[in-house]
Amino acid sequence: MNALNTTLAQTSVTDRLMAAVIAAVIGVSLVYTAGFANASTLHNAAHDWRHAHNFPCH
Ligand SMILES: [Zn+2]
Repeated sequence: MNALNTTLAQTSVTDRLMAAVIAAVIGVSLVYTAGFANASTLHNAAHDWRHAHNFPCH
């Protein structure tokens, strides 16, 4: 068993679930902040990113 598997085996399900929830909250916050920001510069940057990554836009 390598070091990564040992670490995962020692991490409780609650800790892993909490990490996943925190990551999801941060991710959704970033998407909503960038997508619905009033600042046109921030909005345009998010818009350009969406087009650059083939994200459905308009
Ligand atoms: Zn667009």
